Amino acid sequence: MSHTQTILQSLPGNPYLGLQRADTLWHNYRHGKIPVPDVVSTQSEPLELPADPYDVVICGGTLGIMLGATLASRGWRVALLERNILKGREQEWNISRSELRTFVDLGLLSEVQLETAIATEYNPARIYFEGGEDLWVRDVLNVGVDPVYLLETLKQVFLAAGGELMEKTPFSSARVAANGVQVTAGEKTLTTRLLIDTMGHFSPIVQQARQGHPPDAVCLVVGTCATGYQNNQTGDLIASFTPIKHQCQYFWEAFPARDGRTTYLFTYLDAHPDRITLRDLFEDYFQLLPDYQGVPLEQLQFKRALFGFFPAYRNSPLRFPWNRLLAVGDASGHQSPLSFGGFGAMIRHLGRLSEGIDDALRQDQLNASALSWLQPYQPNIAVTWLFQKAMSLEVDQSLDQDQINTLLTTIFQDMAALGDPVLRPFLQDVVQFLPLAKTLLRTSIYHPLLVAKILPQVGIPAVLDWTGHYLSLAVYSALNQLLAATPSQSTSYYWRRWRESLIYGSGSDHNTHSAKS
Ligand SMILES: Cc1cc2nc3c(=O)[nH]c(=O)nc-3n(C[C@H](O)[C@H](O)[C@H](O)COP(=O)(O)OP(=O)(O)OC[C@H]3O[C@@H](n4cnc5c(N)ncnc54)[C@H](O)[C@@H]3O)c2cc1C
Repeated sequence: MSHTQTILQSLPGNPYLGLQRADTLWHNYRHGKIPVPDVVSTQSEPLELPADPYDVVICGGTLGIMLGATLASRGWRVALLERNILKGREQEWNISRSELRTFVDLGLLSEVQLETAIATEYNPARIYFEGGEDLWVRDVLNVGVDPVYLLETLKQVFLAAGGELMEKTPFSSARVAANGVQVTAGEKTLTTRLLIDTMGHFSPIVQQARQGHPPDAVCLVVGTCATGYQNNQTGDLIASFTPIKHQCQYFWEAFPARDGRTTYLFTYLDAHPDRITLRDLFEDYFQLLPDYQGVPLEQLQFKRALFGFFPAYRNSPLRFPWNRLLAVGDASGHQSPLSFGGFGAMIRHLGRLSEGIDDALRQDQLNASALSWLQPYQPNIAVTWLFQKAMSLEVDQSLDQDQINTLLTTIFQDMAALGDPVLRPFLQDVVQFLPLAKTLLRTSIYHPLLVAKILPQVGIPAVLDWTGHYLSLAVYSALNQLLAATPSQSTSYYWRRWRESLIYGSGSDHNTHSAKS
């Protein structure tokens, strides 16, 4: 029996079964068998509205409860549908403290509750690529949040504000008319002004909107939380110590957790049929873990297994073609293709989204075009597609075994040499124009040969595509700077959304978060 099977089958709840299910789904994605459900329909006749329709129905309770709590607190009539029981997972979410303050700023958590939600905090964290030197940073993704406590506390805020929670109530279909949406879920039929989809990457509404289109990139992640490690004081934000294997570059993450140490192995790839399975990746994880952490497997007591695959689409964030429907969280694909920190991405946008949805409801801006401004194009995220490409290789591409490690060693050393304002936002998944320009300039001057090697690896079309986004990033940053000097009090829905798109699209929201820390 493989290590994966033996270890996973011995854990509570037998996560090996879940791994098999995830692998079946991953297999289907690789073989073009992506379901295209028919769950959203439109009708030209108006709906017969009940006396008191919901303002918002949110489908999906993980990140959905965060939005539910803010909207209910603002006085909207909100229902939250969850197919299971609304409960956070055991495994902590890692995030930076400065970002977490959003919950206090939005009045969702008190200072005491915020501290209680923090299960772990450590410093420093390492960045390492084979052939390079350790690079240490402080206060980045070093806080572990307890999802069980956080979701339960937000649930209480939601209920106290009059929100209606419907558990064990799976969304099954939506009919969109000019005056509202009729949602069918389990035995229930609800009518609402706005339907928000927070059902994650594999939401049926998202699958219908994406029409079976294969993802442009995928991040595979496997890992465990275990005790028995000698050193559990520091973490790794990203580490790599092996050459290319199975046409993948393997990256690792490690964090002290409340009940052990969490280690992840992740890799970026496309959805080609010949790509590695999650089970094979897990087998490599168990084979390499002793080298990575300097501990034999037999010395570790595994608490739980963690795994997932994250499809990423260039056409993101996803804007639904239907009126009155909005995707939020993983469903929207609004984070970068490099990140599987969807909780962090949600927190970053929670204030903007709450404000924007509130505005849309008040001003009745609920058609598809108005709602698309709540998930605007973000050039600072679009530029990261090239980084994703540089950290992966095609299934039939021949590369020097250490090329990706060498590239990353050099780029990260250049960023570190340029200082915290360059490195820090990047590590938190926020790319900004000036830091990026400085890094590119420095790398081109000091390492021209390396740049010459990247071009054939990623290809000219990808570079041209990136150049367009990079220029947009320059324009967004310049416009944002210009307008920041002359703040406007305009209440126009479109003006506000456009301003937000400049702030977030240029990565300037990071400055606000950092200033609060
Ligand atoms: C191994 C691993 C480690 C991670 N680590 C981090 C981390 O350290 N930091 C971080 O920021 N993020 C992390 N993430 C990502 C984070 O967990 C996700 O981004 C986050 O859970 C996304 O939340 P979501 O609500 O958008 O989607 P999901 O988590 O997928 O939740 C969707 C919800 O919708 C419900 N649902 C689905 N279908 C229906 C239906 N038909 N009707 C009603 N409800 C439905 C589901 O039951 C679920 O509650 C990690 C993910 C994984 C897999």
